[in-house]
Amino acid sequence: MCGIVAYIGHRQAKPILLEGLKRLEYRGYDSAGLAMLIDGKLKIGRTVGRVSMLEERLEQLGGFDGTLGLCHTRWATHGGVTELNAHPHRDDRHGLVVVHNGIIENYAALKTYLTERGHTFTSDTDTEVISMLISELYEGDLEKAVQAALREVTGAYAIAVICEKEPDTLVVARKGSPLLVGIGNGEYIVASDAAAIISHTGQAFMLDDYNVVKITRAGFRTSDIHNTPVTPKVTQLEIDLEQIELGGYPHFMLKEIFEQPKALRACCSGRMDIRDGRVVLGGVSTYAKELTRARRVILTAQGTALHAAMIGRYLLEDVAKVPTQTEYASEFRYRNPVIEEGTVVIAVSQSGETADTLAALKEAKERGALALGVINVVGSSIARETDAGVYLRVGPEIGVASTKAFTGQVAALSLLGLFMARRRLMSADACAEMLREFEALPAKIERILEQAPHVKRVTERYIDRENWLFLGRGYNYPTALEGALKLKEISYIHAEGMPAAEMKHGPIALINEGMPAVFIANKGRQYEKVMSNIAEVRSRGGHVIAVATEGDEHIKKYVQDVLYIPDVPEPLSPILAVIPLQLMAYYAAVARGHDVDKPRNLAKSVTVE
Ligand code: GLU
Repeated sequence: MCGIVAYIGHRQAKPILLEGLKRLEYRGYDSAGLAMLIDGKLKIGRTVGRVSMLEERLEQLGGFDGTLGLCHTRWATHGGVTELNAHPHRDDRHGLVVVHNGIIENYAALKTYLTERGHTFTSDTDTEVISMLISELYEGDLEKAVQAALREVTGAYAIAVICEKEPDTLVVARKGSPLLVGIGNGEYIVASDAAAIISHTGQAFMLDDYNVVKITRAGFRTSDIHNTPVTPKVTQLEIDLEQIELGGYPHFMLKEIFEQPKALRACCSGRMDIRDGRVVLGGVSTYAKELTRARRVILTAQGTALHAAMIGRYLLEDVAKVPTQTEYASEFRYRNPVIEEGTVVIAVSQSGETADTLAALKEAKERGALALGVINVVGSSIARETDAGVYLRVGPEIGVASTKAFTGQVAALSLLGLFMARRRLMSADACAEMLREFEALPAKIERILEQAPHVKRVTERYIDRENWLFLGRGYNYPTALEGALKLKEISYIHAEGMPAAEMKHGPIALINEGMPAVFIANKGRQYEKVMSNIAEVRSRGGHVIAVATEGDEHIKKYVQDVLYIPDVPEPLSPILAVIPLQLMAYYAAVARGHDVDKPRNLAKSVTVE
């Protein structure tokens, strides 16, 4: 969820650690801390708040000169947001410290045991249990003690450990939370996200679950928790620095909204054979037969990815004629689902690390489903767990509020839907026609983005309102949900999204004079119905902001404000309709003075259940 960075090498560690931590700041956190080994002695600085505050704290403390250290940004799960609960956590015997991402599920039993063994705890975290357990099992070999400790814990972890008694050693391990080792020239940078490594080296390997890596300045050794040697797969990191920097934009979110035309081109590149009217998806082609015969598709995800999945569902049923359902991964996983023969489960996640989605996918696989992924981060846990999948290729998404990953997910699912449709029933001509429309999308998004100043003016008109509604029908009902979620996430305005027809079954009671109601009212099968819903809101004093199709002058008579999108076939319309909603959320947050890229309480990739 939050961040781990560790360094061992010949350079001063502090600037490298802090730079890495800043690159992970977007992931969201509440406190930060750093520990270094200096002349065989541990030196620790911790604080509640931002990395800049940690920097100040380290400055005050002084003396952080050394070439081995680790640091952490915490997103509290166990224990309040206090300095005592901030990582690193120190043991009480051997001078060792641990930073940890994840949750230790059996921490209470372990804590009781370790307390009986005479250990004194100073925090309320589950993490401190790991440091005490390693300490309890330490017999002069840190790597062995870490392996032994991890054999006793259940839950999820990415950890890094250093110890005064072994001043040339860094031990790291992972189960369920991502961790990478970057290999430099006589130096190693370990991090929970490639963004913290890429400015130093492009060579890296991702730890697999239960891997433990012992790193010294002379080299490294990878094993599992039973000490069986493991050969890591060193690869070239696929991101470059430019992708993770602001490049003149005030916020990552705005940068990523504006990157969508480019991202969509990258997502579709090489995947559309318009001449032959077919979709080329290398990743899933091995399973073409299973997909053609599929009896049911279950799309599972959380948050924004679930909204993308819901749009995918409409398309899979409408165009490919496969019975499809969508489900929160957290619910699917625990409800003892029935998986019949011929079921394909598709996990949708930007990071590929979403704990709930990963768990749901594993559950479905065990019950015999073909497991596919629609994922952005190459080599992530979900990507590795699936039988096959479609990568988004939209580049790293830094903004906590997902934008380009959403449109990428919808595009990738639509391509997958067309891939299946073409094999099941769709003619080459119909598919070619759809692909031509697909090809035109990036330029159409560019046209919407040109209207950003107008979206800003409209948004600011309603900025004092605390309750908003987002309404749509059909393919754009999930778009309405996504519009509401964006506004909530970064502007902290209460917003509800729902099918436009559902409003009169209850929520209409909320409408009072001036309440903003955003309608997605593009041209399509349900246009007239949406217009009736708009009339219902207007007659109760609500103010309607409509997302409408260019050329629809008629709608102006019935609504207060119009945001136009170019004409597009309905199945592809969410990719355009969501753009003004993303911009609205962004401008609302800026107008309210919020930190768009670091919204309160949120974390970017939710690696805890
Ligand atoms: N469970 C740990 C804690 O609450 C680690 C949370 C995290 O991933 O930052 O301290």
